Amino acid sequence: MDNRREIVFSPPDMTDEEVEEVKKALLSGWITTGPKTKELENMLADFCGTDLFVCFNSATAAMEMTYRLLGIGEGDEVITTAYTYTATSSAICHVGAKPVMVDILGDKVYQEKRYIGHSPYEPDYDEIDRAFSEKTKAIAPVDIAGVMCDYDRLAEIAKAHAGDFSPSDNRYQKAMGRAVIVADSAHGLGASKNGKMSGQKADFTTFSFHAVKNLTTGEGGAVTWRKIEGVDNEDIYHEYMLLSLHGQSKDALEKTEIGSWEYDIIFPGYKCNMTDIQAAIGIAQLRRYPGLLKRRREIVNLYDEGINRISRLTGVNITSLAHYTETSTSSGHLYLMRVGGYTHKDRCRLIRLMAEKGVPANVHYKPLPMLTAYKNMGYRIEDCPRAYQYYENEITLPLHTLLSNDDVAYILDVLTDALKDKEG
Ligand SMILES: *Cc1c(COP(=O)(O)O)cnc(C)c1O
Repeated sequence: MDNRREIVFSPPDMTDEEVEEVKKALLSGWITTGPKTKELENMLADFCGTDLFVCFNSATAAMEMTYRLLGIGEGDEVITTAYTYTATSSAICHVGAKPVMVDILGDKVYQEKRYIGHSPYEPDYDEIDRAFSEKTKAIAPVDIAGVMCDYDRLAEIAKAHAGDFSPSDNRYQKAMGRAVIVADSAHGLGASKNGKMSGQKADFTTFSFHAVKNLTTGEGGAVTWRKIEGVDNEDIYHEYMLLSLHGQSKDALEKTEIGSWEYDIIFPGYKCNMTDIQAAIGIAQLRRYPGLLKRRREIVNLYDEGINRISRLTGVNITSLAHYTETSTSSGHLYLMRVGGYTHKDRCRLIRLMAEKGVPANVHYKPLPMLTAYKNMGYRIEDCPRAYQYYENEITLPLHTLLSNDDVAYILDVLTDALKDKEG
């Protein structure tokens, strides 16, 4: 192809607006957690329609601090999915609890009527139900690619097992009286399902602002939560502040008030707060976010049309994840597709052929039981056959807001050529 382009997989979309906000923060005399971080937290709460948000330096920290807030640790189990990035599971390991991994729905969404409209990458709800034990303290589902899980079903399952739930000595566990749903919505900022935003459905919802995510602060993350009966929301906010900043009773900003020097350390806490420099980037990004989501949707639609055309043209059956359905609107984070009839080896060759023409594709995700860390802990991919099946021939196309329509057309052309070039 003589019109060769160099496509980037997931560059940050930064403008003068971000630069201006960061400049203001840098010159304001306050650069760590302070007014900008509070402003971003308030903007996020408005955007998601929740009461409060807390920002951290990553989504992983947001998840870990949530487990610590909930008193989840040694001897406890958290039911999660094998089909995700390690962060979902490593946060569980960080607090000393055991991740119990279930398979994804996979082809069940085509075979079983009750799963019509679900994403095949959602966790298998029946397996979650069966994985419950007296040690289960939480469920950690993942909104893969920004498509929300079935949180109503998850709440039903957690409630059905409330009778076996034995809370630790933790006021939140006691107040909830059942396993807590801690969503990994690292991909899902701005997603909605049945009219509810990500953040409004799970008990706790975490988001990532890592450099490759839809909205970025370079590194960063946040949590929001639903009101717990009998618990003051401000108490949870305050406890997150303690957890993320040394367990110090007064943050640095409060200490700047006249004559106010004294502080206490309530417990030896952690250090994972967001800085105002990061928050400044986030503020500008969130202002632009509705436009960014709209552009992602346009690109997904272009890909969907293109993929249908290519399937007819090449005779290769390509299935891509549905992002926008009657009931559900995703954040358009990742374009996942599966190449029918392809083995792992065919898929790797396809990715190489595309890369040679300047189109980087990726794989989301290699199931956790296939990774050394989890193999060593005894997890086996044989226990998650659908996760393997969906991984084996999956490729993820570049999807970001710096792609032009011509870039998308080029990517589809390169894909077409690579499919025609299949070996054997
Ligand atoms: C990126 C990502 C995370 C981790 O986010 P960080 O902000 O880097 O900690 C967690 N889960 C999933 C599914 C992710 O893609």
